Amino acid sequence: MCGIVGYVGNKKAIDVLISGLKNLEYRGYDSSGVALIDTNSIEIIKSVGKIKNLEDKLKDKNLDKFNIGLAHTRWATHGEASLVNAHPHTIGNIVIVHNGIIENAKELKNELINEGIEFNSETDTEVVAALINKYLENDIIKTISKVMNTIKGSYALGIMVKGINDKLYVAKKDSPLVIGIGEDENFFASDICAINMYTNKFVFLDDYDIAEISKNSVNYYSNGNKVDKKVDTIDIDLNSKSKNGYPHYMLKEINEEPTVLEKTLKPYLEDFSSIPDLTNYDEIHIVACGSAMYAGMIGKNLFEEKANIKSTCEVASEYRYKNNIYTNKTLVILISQSGETADTIAALKKAKELGQDTLAIVNVKTSTIARLADKVVFIEAGEEIAVATTKAYILQVAVISLLALKLAYNKKLIDNIDTYLEEFKTIPKLVKNVIDRENDYKKIAKEIKDNENVFFIGRRYDYAMCLEGSLKLKEVSYIHSEAYPSGELKHGTISLIDKGIPVFCILTDDELYEKSISNIVEVESRGAKTIIISKKSLKQNRKLEICVDDVSQFVIPLLVVPVLQLIAYHTAVDRGCDVDKPKNLAKSVTVE
Ligand code: GLU
Repeated sequence: MCGIVGYVGNKKAIDVLISGLKNLEYRGYDSSGVALIDTNSIEIIKSVGKIKNLEDKLKDKNLDKFNIGLAHTRWATHGEASLVNAHPHTIGNIVIVHNGIIENAKELKNELINEGIEFNSETDTEVVAALINKYLENDIIKTISKVMNTIKGSYALGIMVKGINDKLYVAKKDSPLVIGIGEDENFFASDICAINMYTNKFVFLDDYDIAEISKNSVNYYSNGNKVDKKVDTIDIDLNSKSKNGYPHYMLKEINEEPTVLEKTLKPYLEDFSSIPDLTNYDEIHIVACGSAMYAGMIGKNLFEEKANIKSTCEVASEYRYKNNIYTNKTLVILISQSGETADTIAALKKAKELGQDTLAIVNVKTSTIARLADKVVFIEAGEEIAVATTKAYILQVAVISLLALKLAYNKKLIDNIDTYLEEFKTIPKLVKNVIDRENDYKKIAKEIKDNENVFFIGRRYDYAMCLEGSLKLKEVSYIHSEAYPSGELKHGTISLIDKGIPVFCILTDDELYEKSISNIVEVESRGAKTIIISKKSLKQNRKLEICVDDVSQFVIPLLVVPVLQLIAYHTAVDRGCDVDKPKNLAKSVTVE
């Protein structure tokens, strides 16, 4: 799910490529590399690990003469994160970077090996380079089309051909690719954030498109035929790149939550009719991955409990391959921060092919999911740079909560809508109060930082919050953590509870309060060190307890979430982890 970027123009290509790679690093950082070409020479430089390592390697090279090149930051799918597997790959006259997975790479590679082709790496990408080289003819578009008919899987490809010093070629299927249009210069990238400091004019490629990019023109082809494409003008706030004095993007982004909540909620609260009305549906399927799925779990509970509609919430990588049973009136809700999550896109396409209505909750307005879904509710997170999502997640929860509130109201299951709307207006302030209690979170971080196992327990909505709290902790602090429905722990996992094991207990659900307390006492009886996250009316007066304001069930997750995020953050800092770029992760998972 790497990032790719390419440039042709009058600038020093290396500067454009490195700044582009830095902005794409959220997509993976196993290795990176650049390839630059001119009339007489080609330079390929690669490095393992973060872009910084590549930059260090470039320091003693003078690459200023190159005005055309392409670059890659990798999240390995085929072959370890090594120098030899780093992109760009080259075979014969072809230099290539690739985002995605070639599913029939193994068979193709065997055939090519039998024909005498030698491969250097373990990647699926090198097979594409070999095929293009094999079929290479004067008509490069025809060559690439032929290869696209041969390979299966997902790809955004950036291609240079030795001997052609003024053109770049790109092709895509199921991985994002955008062309940036400049004055006497053009660009391509996996995401506009790699090039939006140079241009605000973009062309989003569709599946099976090819583009031939030179300094003064871009030609587009679809299924081999020349086509015109729409140019979108998109202006982006470039200030979001700074850490604003915070030591990490994660902390900066948590602190932005009150502002982005205000920005996202205000238009809906001022005009309640702008929230999509879901009364026509009798069933909701929520589909997403990772934290977005856990936001969906909160939504599922609210839809069922408050709006009395059958709801499911499933991971997209399962949903896309299973036999989903629909009624005549099922709505499929897809949630994705980037709008480029490969499995969520596939689930969306599948639901549409089967004739289902789709609604997406998305942050990036120009994304594939935003463009494909029937209806879209945008969150206004701005750019989120820390790999672990915080502000985008809380907004997903806020928006899905509003959808459930509106449905409950339309179905006449609640009548005092104004009271709820007033409460929603107070969310930014209440969340700010939660975030400001930094010392409380630092204290809890100190309590758990030396443990290798942690548990989270809760029931219903509280369990849904536990899932995200547990994920956040493990992804940034590398502490093994599991979330359990409180009542389920004793069916096996309680055997792991020993003296001093931290167990986070979320306790905000009045209806299940007594049941939850029993489960807390059960783990305490076995020596667990419990950390209670409650609301004022359910306060337990424990040594380790964070208590948030009493608000309705629609709003309470929004107050608990920052608590969980800040505990995860401070624990990761105390353990010396790379908070903004945890190992093995990428922000946007664009391979399945
Ligand atoms: N499948 C390719 C590899 O493993 C590309 C992965 C990516 O998208 O980063 O090198």
